[in-house]
Amino acid sequence: MRRISIFGATGSIGQSTIDLIKRAPDAYHVVALTGGRNIAQLARDAIDLKAEIAVTGFETCLSDLQNALAGTGIEVAAGPQALIEAADRPTDWVMSAIVGAAGLAPGLHALRHGGVLALANKESLVTAGPLLKSEAAKYGATILPVDSEHSAVFQALVGEDISRVERIIITASGGALRTWPLEKLATATVAEACTHPNWDMGQRITIDSASMFNKAMELIETKEFFGVSADQIEVLVHPQSLVHALVGFVDGAIMAHMGPHDMRHAIGYALHWPQREKLPVERLDLAKIGQLEFSAPDLQRWPALRLADEVIRRGGLSGAIFNAAKECALDLFLAGEIGFQDMAQVVELVLNRHWQNSAGSHKFDVIPLDDVLKADHTARVWARECAKT
Ligand code: NDP
Ligand code: MG
Repeated sequence: MRRISIFGATGSIGQSTIDLIKRAPDAYHVVALTGGRNIAQLARDAIDLKAEIAVTGFETCLSDLQNALAGTGIEVAAGPQALIEAADRPTDWVMSAIVGAAGLAPGLHALRHGGVLALANKESLVTAGPLLKSEAAKYGATILPVDSEHSAVFQALVGEDISRVERIIITASGGALRTWPLEKLATATVAEACTHPNWDMGQRITIDSASMFNKAMELIETKEFFGVSADQIEVLVHPQSLVHALVGFVDGAIMAHMGPHDMRHAIGYALHWPQREKLPVERLDLAKIGQLEFSAPDLQRWPALRLADEVIRRGGLSGAIFNAAKECALDLFLAGEIGFQDMAQVVELVLNRHWQNSAGSHKFDVIPLDDVLKADHTARVWARECAKT
């Protein structure tokens, strides 16, 4: 039986992972399930999957979790340290699907068992890519992409030599506001930014799709996952979201990966890798789909893409600063304190402040977790200051 843990089990990715696990319960021993505030879901899944331990990331939710699991024999715990201790329990396969920078530390600990870390939490590679990769190498662990674009690139690269790759193109749907006039974007509300045309995802990543911050994060993630340079990474707007990524080789060939809008494909690929197994996802009917559109992204509409390019080129703590400023700007947008377009402005101001303070830090070294967390904290303080002024 494969020992697995799911971090962020109550979220969109976590629930899709559980859907796959529940279809073959005898194949897995569930070690830890973690969630945040959705205690009812966490408790239900912990019981159904006979988990060893259920953990909420929030100490204030502990008593609810204790009550929900009383008499079941399932251990309970709460708080960021409890997430890390859950990650320290030996496993063979771990889903990292907490949203935000909170997912980094549990993922780093989970790598120490030398198994597979299925990485949905893109913030881990954006904030601390070199650290994550060096820990994986140290403990003989494998990081597999779950983000659909990176899973697509990974699949297109099977049997290929990365040195023969000229470019990696990831696609973007353009999100909820793709066809809005530019001048109207500043007035977009949370509800308007929060409906994705193709994918059913968590609220934060859905808004990040409309602002292209999600794609910006994915550009940085691409650099970290595949070790290519900023000049080799491109974005194409593709409203149908059926081609997830394309890899261009030195001989002119382009390998494109297509699949349905269902994260169970990428999750299932990471779960069964290196094999392919039958998955409960829709089979595309290309004759019915008829047409696929592609266009270049408008950098005026989506400044996040320009910022990501600069972050990749500068390296160092830029990714950690970028992510924290973006998370904070999103919180401020959700709270109604700044407008939709202000998010990119806040992130740019914070990045510029960081770059002014750390001139010449064009480095791609492993940065210790404490320094990453310090940068994360500073960027959040700066982002709130910026938003006020
Ligand atoms: P959701 O918001 O749906 O779920 C997030 C999960 O994290 C939930 O289990 C939530 O708990 C938990 N959580 C939130 N805050 C904390 C915290 N401080 N400590 C511990 N747990 C916490 O997000 P998604 O599933 O959409 O996304 C998860 C990750 O995967 C993100 O990094 C996202 O960018 C990435 N991703 C998602 C895709 C998708 O299709 N959804 C596609 C590609 C990548 P609760 O809900 O109980 O409060
Ligand atoms: Mg994606």
